[in-house]
Amino acid sequence: MSGNKTRIQAINNIMNRAQKICKPTDPLSKIWAIDVFNLSTMEDSLSKSSFKSIKKTVQTGEPLDPQTANSVAAAMKEWAIGKGAKFFSHLFYPMTNITAEKHDGFIVTNSDGRAITEFTGSLLIKGEPDGSSFPNGSLRMTSAARGYTAWDPTSPAFVMHTPNGATLMIPSVFMSWTGEALDKKIPLLRSNSAMDKAANRVLSLMGEEDIAPLSSSCGAEQEYFLIDENFANARPDLLLAGRTLFGAPSAKGQQFDDHYFAAIPERVQVFMQDFEDKLYRLGIPAKTHHNEVAPGQFEIAPYFEAANVAADHQQLMMTLLKSTAKAHGFTCLLHEKPFAGVNGSGKHVNWSIGNSTQGNLLDPGKTPHENLNFLLFCGAVVRGVHLFGPMLRAAIASSANDHRLGANEAPPAILSVYLGEQLESVFDDIKKGKLLEKAKGGVMDLGISQILNFDRDPGDRNRTSPFAFTGNRFEFRAVGSSQSVSGPIVAMNTMLADSLTWIADKLEVALKDGTDKTTAVIIVLKELVELHGNVIFGGDGYSKEWHEEAVKDRGLKNIPTTADALPAYKERSVVDLFSKTGVLSEVELASRFEVYAEQYVQSIEVEAKLVIDIATTKIYPAAIQHISGITSTSSSLKEYGVDLENSGVKTAVTEANAMMAAVKELSAAVAKDDFASIEEHMNYCAQTICNMMLNVRTHADTLEGIIADELWPLPKYHEMLFIK
Ligand code: ADP
Ligand code: MG
Repeated sequence: MSGNKTRIQAINNIMNRAQKICKPTDPLSKIWAIDVFNLSTMEDSLSKSSFKSIKKTVQTGEPLDPQTANSVAAAMKEWAIGKGAKFFSHLFYPMTNITAEKHDGFIVTNSDGRAITEFTGSLLIKGEPDGSSFPNGSLRMTSAARGYTAWDPTSPAFVMHTPNGATLMIPSVFMSWTGEALDKKIPLLRSNSAMDKAANRVLSLMGEEDIAPLSSSCGAEQEYFLIDENFANARPDLLLAGRTLFGAPSAKGQQFDDHYFAAIPERVQVFMQDFEDKLYRLGIPAKTHHNEVAPGQFEIAPYFEAANVAADHQQLMMTLLKSTAKAHGFTCLLHEKPFAGVNGSGKHVNWSIGNSTQGNLLDPGKTPHENLNFLLFCGAVVRGVHLFGPMLRAAIASSANDHRLGANEAPPAILSVYLGEQLESVFDDIKKGKLLEKAKGGVMDLGISQILNFDRDPGDRNRTSPFAFTGNRFEFRAVGSSQSVSGPIVAMNTMLADSLTWIADKLEVALKDGTDKTTAVIIVLKELVELHGNVIFGGDGYSKEWHEEAVKDRGLKNIPTTADALPAYKERSVVDLFSKTGVLSEVELASRFEVYAEQYVQSIEVEAKLVIDIATTKIYPAAIQHISGITSTSSSLKEYGVDLENSGVKTAVTEANAMMAAVKELSAAVAKDDFASIEEHMNYCAQTICNMMLNVRTHADTLEGIIADELWPLPKYHEMLFIK
């Protein structure tokens, strides 16, 4: 009887673990951003003229002159060394969802053998990590494998304290020798400028004069699971795939809703305090935390920031969630669906557009003229989601997120927009021409302002919509918990740039013959709603009726899997969208398709191999041990009148045989490698392989309900979700 050694050991380890307790920590004022080389740190350490010049670069993205770069580098080095740093690293964001870093020492030696530290403007500006093993989707030939990182001065550098000391981290872009974007930051920065340019045109036509550069903002709500690391270490599926590929449901799951917003378990409180203090030191504004719906599931949301900084902070948060969890004996699961049968994890991306002169353009505002700007920007979003819904779906596609979308706990895989009752009726009136009549009658200004003077928080949130207006921003709710927020932000900024350009073109025409602004806006919006209003939906996104209506009556697409979603990147309209806006060239976009398609196929293949391995080497032997334990003593058991017919042993035999037959079938299927295209390979994974994995799991999960508990080799759902 040894099959369960690791599992029982895991439980023992947890029971004998020393409990950490919350300790009083330093006040916020003492730790806030102390490890960040931000503008206020620079102001203290740079000359007046250098500071003025770097401030301009940070705030407007203007290029930096080499002399200022040198002064910033010198100040940054002194500051970092003062904090104990011996190394620096350009930090970049390749086309995986992780952050990459390559550390270089400040050290150089001179001819008499002394060590000095060196860090010049050119070292700050450019790094050459090579990094030829990052996915590049054919953008780099191995013979020309050189890759460059370049400092992004708009995202502050910081010092990271790790067990091997302190390191100066410099947020950077990552590009190929030939200048193509190999990362997630370059498209984000480009999408922001594209949006800025188009928004500026619209605002100028609306008569705005003093228009500061526009930037998108992002506040991401991160959901995650914490389980004891002893359990994670005893499950190869959690270790390698981040989700459980086996596991019968626990008798109690989330049906009592007794975890959501409940008191946070003490051990998790200690973790959160430690984690959030780390965030504060790095200038990341952690704002809310709470228990989520599933047992063992939690959420953290920082206060929103400029999208570029928010995206870097989001990456840092995911890294710190994992490392801090480890320090507390937890494993943090960022996977979108670690456990079947309870909720998965998302990352709602709250997104808005604004600047320092016009404010938040997705805020209806109080005056009629603010209302008009708002309606144009809001309309632009509606048009974008309608035209480029499949592209938005592609931007959040991954094998992990496929388990969540459309599963009645997360938004459906159909992209629609929720506006709330009031705003929906405004767009309805525009479509019917009602507001146009009023506008031409001359009473419009007042009318529209009254209509839109609604509560910022319209209370009634639609939790079933993938893309919801929430009073002063849109919330893209279909984003997955492990994903970088860059992809979704790039998708949103770019579709918005395109829509604002369309609006500007139309406005220009409408205003030409002296039509007043209000009437011109309503004329443009009327056409927009007629063409794209179909995407507005305020009902229940989970219902069967909606799935039918959306596809049949409204022409929207239901895109259940990544295999169905990624080909959107190859559609002519999407290729044109990205190249016209200058966000991604045709080859850069094609490389993304290739990289994400390969990642999809590879993740499913890893899972399939794990299923085969775990079923064969852990579950089957446990089943056989259970069966032989009973059958070897069956004659004496029978003698005492034990009813073997109802002992489950026969079912165990049937299920064990069926499971191994399913494993055989899966093994043969995984071996297939003659695919005509990557699309065909993706479809094969989505249909054939996924179903076969599920088939093995079904038999294994039945066995879990029959086999003696002490023999079962894998930590069970109730243990992982409830033992803290
Ligand atoms: P809820 O769970 O009710 O949606 P949370 O408070 O958990 O709300 O998270 C809302 C997120 O939206 C926060 O990160 C918040 O900072 C962010 N947010 C608020 N206003 C804006 C805005 N104008 N633009 C972008 N994000 C915003
Ligand atoms: Mg929330």
